[in-house]
Amino acid sequence: MKHDEAGKSVVRRVELKISRYSPETCHAPHFDHFEINADDTTTLIDAFEEIKEAIDPTFTFRSSCHDGVCGSCTVIVNGVERQACFVTLLELSKSKEELVIEPMHNFETIRDLVVDMTPFFDRLRTVRPRIVIEDAPVWTEKEIPQSTENLNKMKNSEKCIECGACVSACPIVSIDQHFLGPAALVAAYRSSIDSRDQAKRQRIEIIDSEHGVWRCHSIYHCVDVCPKNVEPAVAISALRNMIMSERLKRLRF
Ligand code: SF4
Repeated sequence: MKHDEAGKSVVRRVELKISRYSPETCHAPHFDHFEINADDTTTLIDAFEEIKEAIDPTFTFRSSCHDGVCGSCTVIVNGVERQACFVTLLELSKSKEELVIEPMHNFETIRDLVVDMTPFFDRLRTVRPRIVIEDAPVWTEKEIPQSTENLNKMKNSEKCIECGACVSACPIVSIDQHFLGPAALVAAYRSSIDSRDQAKRQRIEIIDSEHGVWRCHSIYHCVDVCPKNVEPAVAISALRNMIMSERLKRLRF
């Protein structure tokens, strides 16, 4: 097996074409080309770190856990949202020689691969993404139990790491910047099906709206790109059922 100067086993030299943007020096994003020696353990985030340390210290990207948990390193690779710490260069370059790396879509780029997540978290906050118990103190020693059956219902939506990949892939967000988007609707679903929550009706008022749950066209790109298999489109469909049954209840009484 061949080795590079650092002693790392080299399997292949991979070409990366990376979107660069600096608000101080350029008016529009452009691509820079890099070549990285990759063995079968080299992740995309390893490549980013090598570029920053050895080639261009101005290269800017976001990362934290390096273990597929925080979602902060999510970027677009050859048109698809991926977690940079969780994919190897060799796996990515199996089908294409050159890897084209861009920041997530539907977010404003701050610099290179770093996007502004503020509107994403604002939308999450809109749906009150937590268990709301109006008469409970902020901190209590009293246990508020939940059934295993109820826990099982929310398990999938609980896995969301708020990476933003589903919002980046959503064609509706790209034409309606006010659409709550898949991640916020997953959060609304997760909190609303919790048997301890008391804010379901308020949440329904927020999501049963022009830019809420009915704006989704069930295109399912969110399901395809979610790294945690949260299936946002399934949560959105369940929210629609929830809204309809609340409407029926109001008609009956
Ligand atoms: S639903 Fe999936 S893709 Fe969307 S923010 Fe959560 S983990 Fe990321």
